[in-house]
Amino acid sequence: MSDSVQPKLIIHGGAGSSLQGKGGIEAVRQSLYNILDEVYGLLRDGKSATDAVVRGCQLLEDEPRFNAGTGSVLQSDGQIRMSASLMDGIAHRFSGVINVSRVKNPIEMAQFLQQERDRILSDIGSAELARELSLPVFNPTTDKRLNEWLQDRQDNFQRTMANVIAEDAGRGTIGVVALDARGRLAAGTSTGGKGFERIGRVSDSAMPAGNYANRFAGVSCTGIGEDIVDECLAARIVVRVTDGLSLQEAMDRSFAEATENQRDLGAIALDARGNIAWGKTSDVVLAAYHDGQQRGDSLEAEDGTLVVVV
Ligand code: ASP
Repeated sequence: MSDSVQPKLIIHGGAGSSLQGKGGIEAVRQSLYNILDEVYGLLRDGKSATDAVVRGCQLLEDEPRFNAGTGSVLQSDGQIRMSASLMDGIAHRFSGVINVSRVKNPIEMAQFLQQERDRILSDIGSAELARELSLPVFNPTTDKRLNEWLQDRQDNFQRTMANVIAEDAGRGTIGVVALDARGRLAAGTSTGGKGFERIGRVSDSAMPAGNYANRFAGVSCTGIGEDIVDECLAARIVVRVTDGLSLQEAMDRSFAEATENQRDLGAIALDARGNIAWGKTSDVVLAAYHDGQQRGDSLEAEDGTLVVVV
């Protein structure tokens, strides 16, 4: 593998029904761009795609506006349980944690698990791992999320899920896909889930349906986890590229099917040739990318998929 590839980066902060107002859009854009700049700098300095993805996910987890890490939504019982996964496209290896509590950055646990024999841990296992790694106990609850939950409790939980999705100008699961200077791809996704869900519900974010990469393409999804699982969206797009479709064709076909099936979801993607894509069936997906020359985003784009062909 040579060192001659122009790195590419795409990140997202969720998908959903609407963005309220320009102020909201600008605030979301600024926080996505700040993270994009720092992480693209790492790729420019020769850091690996997996390192860039982990750092990008950490920064997005630490940003309370997004529903991952700090600022995660509360489940039906008022607790936060987070899920995160990392896929190294060259090692072709997936790792993740499901429904982990009281840690700051679930993506770091997924990173650690890349080298382990048992690579996907659920609640009890991830709590044990947090202890083994001596991760400091961290409460990711913000006042805003707590108040939303209290409000919904007053309303007897009539909403089926929290406003995770971008109604309030950008609250959602996060994801990062990177192509590094040596042509290696990686994808990472982290979430607090849908909000108000049943205890034990498993998010797509730590499944290959929601986060997948190989040496041909990488994808991170957001939206209703059950819809993403039913479409097996991330793996579906990656397999289509592996089998010879262009990234654009793979996205177009997969999103046409998802639309036909009335799904509510979005995805970001990169291929090994440096094409950048995003797609959605929901009204918005909060995506931003760096193609080496410039930054761009999906925030005010009309519809569908944008692909920058290099
Ligand atoms: N996909 C996430 C889940 O269902 C939610 C989101 O993307 O905002 O757990």
